[in-house]
Amino acid sequence: MELKFLGGCQEVGKSSIFVNTGKEKFVMDHGIEVQEGHSPIQPPMDLSGVFITHAHLDHSGFVPGLYSRGYRGRTFATPATFDISHMLLEDSLKVQKKRGMTQGFTSQDIRTMGRNEKIMAFNDPQEMGSSTVELLSAGHIPGASMVKIESRAGSLLYTGDVKFISTDFMFGADSDVGHVQTLISESTYSYKNHPDRNELKKKMLEIIEDTCHNGGITILPAFAVGRTQEILMMLKDIQFPIYVDGMGIRATHRMLSHPKSFRNPGMLREAIERAHCIRKQPERKEAVSGPAVIITTAGMLQGGPVSFYISQLAKRKDCSMVLTGYQVEGTAGRTLMDTGIYDNGEMTANPEFPIHFLDFSAHTDRDHLIDFYKKVNPEKLVLVHGDRTPEFAEELRGMGFDAIAPKNGDSLKT
Ligand SMILES: [Zn+2]
Ligand SMILES: [Zn+2]
Repeated sequence: MELKFLGGCQEVGKSSIFVNTGKEKFVMDHGIEVQEGHSPIQPPMDLSGVFITHAHLDHSGFVPGLYSRGYRGRTFATPATFDISHMLLEDSLKVQKKRGMTQGFTSQDIRTMGRNEKIMAFNDPQEMGSSTVELLSAGHIPGASMVKIESRAGSLLYTGDVKFISTDFMFGADSDVGHVQTLISESTYSYKNHPDRNELKKKMLEIIEDTCHNGGITILPAFAVGRTQEILMMLKDIQFPIYVDGMGIRATHRMLSHPKSFRNPGMLREAIERAHCIRKQPERKEAVSGPAVIITTAGMLQGGPVSFYISQLAKRKDCSMVLTGYQVEGTAGRTLMDTGIYDNGEMTANPEFPIHFLDFSAHTDRDHLIDFYKKVNPEKLVLVHGDRTPEFAEELRGMGFDAIAPKNGDSLKT
C-alpha cells in the first residue's frame, strides 16, 4: 500500500490521506484549515472513493472542492455525517464570503457532492474492487467513524477523531478493531490526560449557580456540533433559564433526526425543548435581562452571536464565561484566555467578568491512545492530527512501536 499525507500532519486542520492499494485509490477525509481556509494537497482525480470520517470541517470541509475540480466518483460516510456536513459546509461558504476569503467551491459543488453520496453503516464491510472497507464507530460526535481498509496490498485503520470513554451524549469508540498492519491515529491530546468529566461538570454547575444566584448571566460558548448538545444535557436540571443561540439549535435538530447516532436522544430532546431557542434579536435582549445561562456559538469566539453577548455584558462583574472546548492558537477565544482582551476583528472588549476554562474534550487522551496502540499492536503507527506528533512518535519508539510523524506531502510505502 502506498499512502500520501495530503494534510493534517503536525497540525490540527485540513486532514486528508490518499491511499493507493495498487488497484484502488481512496481519499480518507478532505478537510480545511478553518482560520485561513487552506485546503489539503490535491489528490489524483481517478479515485475509487472518498470517505468522510465525520462532519467537522477539518475533515469534511474541502470534499466539495474535489467535485469542483472534476471528481465525479462516490463519497462514503454515515447518514449523520452527511447530514451535519451539509449544514457546516453551507455555513462555511457564508463565513468565508463574509470574511472575503477565496473559496475553493460553490453551493453547486456541495449539491454535486450530495448526488454522489453513498451511505455506509458501522460494522458493515463493503467490497470496493479488490479492497474491503469498513466503518467503525469512533465515539467523537454523532456519525463519527474510523475507516478500515483491507486489500491484498495490506491493511490499515484510520481513526479520524476518536474518543474511547462513554459520556451521557456518546458511546465510546469501538476499540475491537482486529489486527491491522498500519494504524493512522489522531493525536490531539498526546501530551496530557483529561480531568474527570464529572468533576468538570460539577465545577461548571457551581459557576453557573453562583453567577445566577447573584443575578448574573453565564455565557457558555460551545461548538455547534457535539459540545452544544452535551452541555444542554448537563444543564437539564438547573433551576435558571437556559438560552441557546446560533447554529447549535439547527445542529441539535439534525442530530435528533438521527437518534441512533448518539446515546441518549430522549434526554437531548427533553433538554432542547426545555431551553429557549433564540431566533431574533429581541430575544437576545430578553436573554440578557435576568439570571440565565446562554449557550452560544462560536466555540472559539471567532464570530456568531457570542460577540453580541460579550458586548452587552463586558462591564458586568456579576456575570461569567465558561469556555468549554479547546481554543486553537490565533483564535479570539485563545487570545481572550491569554490576555483578557476580546478581539474578533470587528469589535474589541475588555470583559470584567471572570473567564473559566473547562475542557470537555471530544478527543481521547494520552493514556487511552497508548492503551489502544498496545491493543491493536500495529506494524506501523502513523501519528497525525496533533501539534506534537514528532515528540509523541519518539516517545512511542521508546516503547517499542515503529511510530512516525509524517509531514504534509510525505509518502509512505507499507
Ligand atoms: Zn472532529
Ligand atoms: Zn479533527
